[in-house]
Amino acid sequence: MAVDKTQFLRIQQYLRARNATLVAVSKTKPVADIEELYQLGQRDFGENYVQELLEKQPLLPKNIRWHFIGHLQTNKVKQITSFIHLIQSVDSLKLLAEINKQAKNSDRVIDCLLQVHIAREETKFGFEEPSLEELFSRWEQSSFISDPFPHIRIAGFMGMATFTRNLQQVKNEFNALKELFEKFKLRKAGASMNILSMGMSDDYKVALEQGSNMVRIGSLLFGKREYSGQ
Ligand SMILES: *Cc1c(COP(=O)(O)O)cnc(C)c1O
Repeated sequence: MAVDKTQFLRIQQYLRARNATLVAVSKTKPVADIEELYQLGQRDFGENYVQELLEKQPLLPKNIRWHFIGHLQTNKVKQITSFIHLIQSVDSLKLLAEINKQAKNSDRVIDCLLQVHIAREETKFGFEEPSLEELFSRWEQSSFISDPFPHIRIAGFMGMATFTRNLQQVKNEFNALKELFEKFKLRKAGASMNILSMGMSDDYKVALEQGSNMVRIGSLLFGKREYSGQ
């Protein structure tokens, strides 16, 4: 009953017209809600917590594409590498190295998005431009010998705007991320970047106007969450 089907169909149509992918953010929501959207054709779902994802994943169809969108601790990576579709929240070199290692053990190449810090709030994770620069340079230098992370594919960037009613600020932040995306895409290490994940329930339209091609929507589809989680 919690799933808003009308809203889902409306959003789906809006995104299709703009060639953007919908990731339905199902954190804190029951398996039954996910099944409802699955029945309507939704296949991409996003979760923030490893434990919660591990509880839900085995109960749901195997062709769901699971996106990890929360802060990921290195010691939990190996629990999700066998099935995760896209890790959107890679925020450190250390985490990249661990994903690479665990992906190798699972004999996979895992798609990752680098989380970029665009919001003014200090609490949000992610790379800043100088650290992206450093990462890409290192990557490009070492690739003269061999790819340092052969089990990872950098598929793009993800970012979250400041939680504010000031839409102009939100717009500026998304625009800044779009510019970084275009810039790093041209780099040798950015050759496989084609996903720009930005936009949530409150700001996805602004994000799409600024060039997003993947939005992560939770509360508009599933209703408000019980607690004010991440
Ligand atoms: C929770 C969450 C979302 C979805 O937020 P809503 O406002 O409910 O749409 C999107 N992205 C991330 C990273 C999240 O943690």
